[in-house]
Amino acid sequence: MTVPFQVDALPLRDKSLLRSNAYIGGQWVGANHGVFAVSDPSDQSVISTVTDMQAHEVAEVIAIAERAQTSWAALPAKQRALALRRWFDLIIVSEQDLARIITAEQGKPLSEALAEVRYGAGFVEWFAEEAKRIYGETIPAPSSDRRIIVLKQPIGVAAAITPWNFPLAMITRKAGAALAAGCAIVVKPAELTPLTALALAEISQRAGIPAGIFNVITCSDAAGVGRELCSNSSVRALSFTGSTEVGRLLLRQSADTVKKCSMELGGNAPILVFDDAGLQTSVRGVFAAKFRNGGQSCIAANRILVQSSIYDAFAEQLSEACRELVVGPGAREGVTIGPLIDSSAIAKVEEHVADAVRQGAQIRIGGSRHELGGTFFEPTVLTGVTSAMKIFQGETFGPVAALIRFDTEEEAITLANDSQFGLAAYLFTRDVGRCVRVAEALQVGIVGINEGLISTEVAPFGGVKQSGLGREGSRHGIEEYLQIKYICLGNV
Ligand code: ADP
Repeated sequence: MTVPFQVDALPLRDKSLLRSNAYIGGQWVGANHGVFAVSDPSDQSVISTVTDMQAHEVAEVIAIAERAQTSWAALPAKQRALALRRWFDLIIVSEQDLARIITAEQGKPLSEALAEVRYGAGFVEWFAEEAKRIYGETIPAPSSDRRIIVLKQPIGVAAAITPWNFPLAMITRKAGAALAAGCAIVVKPAELTPLTALALAEISQRAGIPAGIFNVITCSDAAGVGRELCSNSSVRALSFTGSTEVGRLLLRQSADTVKKCSMELGGNAPILVFDDAGLQTSVRGVFAAKFRNGGQSCIAANRILVQSSIYDAFAEQLSEACRELVVGPGAREGVTIGPLIDSSAIAKVEEHVADAVRQGAQIRIGGSRHELGGTFFEPTVLTGVTSAMKIFQGETFGPVAALIRFDTEEEAITLANDSQFGLAAYLFTRDVGRCVRVAEALQVGIVGINEGLISTEVAPFGGVKQSGLGREGSRHGIEEYLQIKYICLGNV
């Protein structure tokens, strides 16, 4: 039985991508289940209702994945690679429809949604290639009658808990790596954006990914389902992207079963703009790093540190650039900033702005809810921001550029590192020595130099400090799903 859609609002070429049931063991699961609603953040209209799986069902899903995993792992790497490659090809075939689904449930402009599909598909392509390169080692033994061999083997069943801000890419960077390694994966997408996850499942089925290898649990009880995923001893790896608060909880919950945990948690990215950077380049870079996805990204520039001598000119030009932004529903032609995801998101942005203004910051442009209402917020530039303000201390996750003044390189580094987070940082300067000094001194996992858009499947993405553990993408990403076995061959 399938759950009927309440609204057939999405103009998809291929309607069968819009699924409403969970995908478990190659089957669409929905009979005898309740449902929860998925809404369009631009007007809160219900797009669809989706199967609401319960925590007590999770153990069975994991058992299904575990049974399927053994034969997936036994396939020659080349066959796993081919299946992943087909998945990638079919994602690209459906890129326009997938973009529409992302925009509908997440809100970002269609052009950004399309960019996410291509970026997210890139992880499937990349790991399809990496599947064939899971090299072990032979190590010269300390005695002549022995041989030492090191294997890298799939860890088993992996679980992924993913956020709503990049509903496709946050799944593919985990699932691509897990499947390439020979693992099965159970994905719990954010309850706000399950439709993209289900569309990926539909495409995985078409691509011939075997039943039970890619599973999607749709549910509204994130805490209950999360607890089951963490406490089940058959889940050997947990990969989470989301808030630091939930990440800490999942780490605690995974301790009893000693899982390998990969955590992509909060960021509070600083951007350091030095006076030799060139205003145009730095404004363009900061603008991209700040306003992509309306600022709802864990690597979004949150603290923009600008050297005193160019501070006012920079603020002026950034504000000018903001005037060009078009706020509106993501599906509308020409829109460049969509709505925030929900009412608590806009409340947080408002609170950060109000706190900054109370403590002396000035609003250069924006500063309020947009006249469109709902969760639309005006692109905002604040000057006179200090480290005492909430906007400096935590992720704002909205279209607010907070400008902080600094004088020396040393002061900028100290300010940038004044955070418990350490995901991404950016710097703009043409001084080669400074590029090296500052990049090395920043306590983060990713540094963009003279570049505001840094995400790619070929490079390792991840944080230090309380921004997380592990890396996604690149040749390192697959290691999260592998374990090492040392074999000692004696009496040769
Ligand atoms: P955000 O603030 O970006 O929404 P969250 O950390 O709340 O980030 O959510 C990221 C993912 O974590 C989502 O899939 C959400 O459903 C899930 N999640 C939220 N709370 C819990 C929890 N207590 N246990 C497990 N997963 C959770």
